[in-house]
Amino acid sequence: MNLQVVQVRPAPAALASWLQRLLLPVCEIARLQPFTFELRPTGLWAGWSMGSDSSPDYRVCLSNRVVLYSSASLVQVYLHECAHALLHQVDALREHGHDAAFFAINLALLARLDAAQDERLPRTGGRWATTVTLYDLQDAPASLAEQQPGAWWPVAAGWSMQVAEELATTDLDAVALAREICTRYSAWCAKLQANVEARKIAQQRDLEERAQRHEEQVRADARLAIRLMCLAFAGVGAVAVTLGNWIAHH
Ligand SMILES: [Zn+2]
Repeated sequence: MNLQVVQVRPAPAALASWLQRLLLPVCEIARLQPFTFELRPTGLWAGWSMGSDSSPDYRVCLSNRVVLYSSASLVQVYLHECAHALLHQVDALREHGHDAAFFAINLALLARLDAAQDERLPRTGGRWATTVTLYDLQDAPASLAEQQPGAWWPVAAGWSMQVAEELATTDLDAVALAREICTRYSAWCAKLQANVEARKIAQQRDLEERAQRHEEQVRADARLAIRLMCLAFAGVGAVAVTLGNWIAHH
């Protein structure tokens, strides 16, 4: 029988120094107080934001395989996890996952790197903001969750891009930026919910009006049928009387 005891150790000085040189300018430009960066020997995921339940310092973990990626990819994964950590920090009661609020924070941080054009940043081969993928926005607002992704995704992405573009250029630090985005996200979700409910009420009213029109039409048709029958009977009666008179005089 064997019981293994393991312990997380500080990264080797050369590795820590290289990561600090890479990430500190990123944090400075994004106006982000750096979250503790923990490297884990795993290939199961690229990054993981632990949240306060697992780590009081909201640390972000990256797979040690990510160190083998390009510097730009490492920055992108770190900022992705920092966006999660910011949400854990400012809006812990809500499960954001990869929703439009997360997407907006991620985009705003990346947009700050684009705007800086700082020589200390690694090269991406394009704009930082275009490094996001469909993976970064997967969770629909609750009121649109029944829709197909093709329907809600452009709406959510459009909201995120607009908010990120507006807030990236402000002086807000990353925590204040995340807080502002969460406030706007809650208001936007409430508006979407109100729209859905208003649409349901309008649909119900439309159904009731149609049912009422159908009922009125049925009643009108019945009245017309009775009139026609009366006319037919009256016609037959008149013919019978005329015929009777004719027979009586001949
Ligand atoms: Zn994520």
